[in-house]
Amino acid sequence: LASRDFHPENTVITIGDVKIGGGELVVMGGPCAVESPEQIDEIAGLVKAAGGQVLRGGAFKPRTGPYSFQGVGVEGLIMMAEAGKKHDLLTITEVMTPEYVDICAEYADILQIGTRNMQNFDLLRKLGTCGKPVLLKRGFSATYDELLNAAEYILAGGNPNVMLCERGIRTFETYTRNTLDLSAIPVLQSLSHLPVISDPSHGTGRRELVVPMTKASVAAGADGLIIEMHTDPDNSMTGDGVQSLFPDQFADLLRDLEKLAPLV
Ligand code: PEP
Ligand code: MN
Repeated sequence: LASRDFHPENTVITIGDVKIGGGELVVMGGPCAVESPEQIDEIAGLVKAAGGQVLRGGAFKPRTGPYSFQGVGVEGLIMMAEAGKKHDLLTITEVMTPEYVDICAEYADILQIGTRNMQNFDLLRKLGTCGKPVLLKRGFSATYDELLNAAEYILAGGNPNVMLCERGIRTFETYTRNTLDLSAIPVLQSLSHLPVISDPSHGTGRRELVVPMTKASVAAGADGLIIEMHTDPDNSMTGDGVQSLFPDQFADLLRDLEKLAPLV
């Protein structure tokens, strides 16, 4: 079902008046984690003002260590839904377990599957019937074929609205957190009809690389971007402050993108 051989025309995912995969660039921006109502409200206003269409933010955070901040949970879903509604933005949030799919689908417009869960097959099966579009992140050591097979689980379960996301893979290089595999964008678009989103934040792990790798992703044909932005990145509650853009950088970047591709 994910293959272009059986479905030659691009899948276009329509949510409200935003179309993903239809030739216009979609920008999802926001913090790594929802921290408080004030934080997500302020950032939502900045995403909207900059021209973004989707507010990102994790209420449930998949952390490498069990003692790190794990997210604010269901309260975060509510905070984000309110900020999205107030600022007229769609919302995307990560769901980590099958039990939480229904509640995440109740509050968010798009469900994100993180790199660590790309092959959580019970979770993928549950997403087949969740009724909401899914952004499926590539596992950090997954091949294109493994990513497409993971998408196949969701599609086969009855949900046609899947986006593929390149978020960087693990290589021998340690300067960057991950290596953003730009080739994934045209390759996945040739193998599949599903929209391809690039995540230059996790793909590099370094703020100064997010701007050039965003532009490179657009040049490579990405259908959209998911970018971390924070009003106070040095004090953010996850370690991802180092890769989060300041609001001014985010706004400047989107202004530059208008020159490369029309925003929705
Ligand atoms: C995130 O988007 O904050 C995140 C945890 O992403 P990934 O699954 O790509 O690490
Ligand atoms: Mn993050």
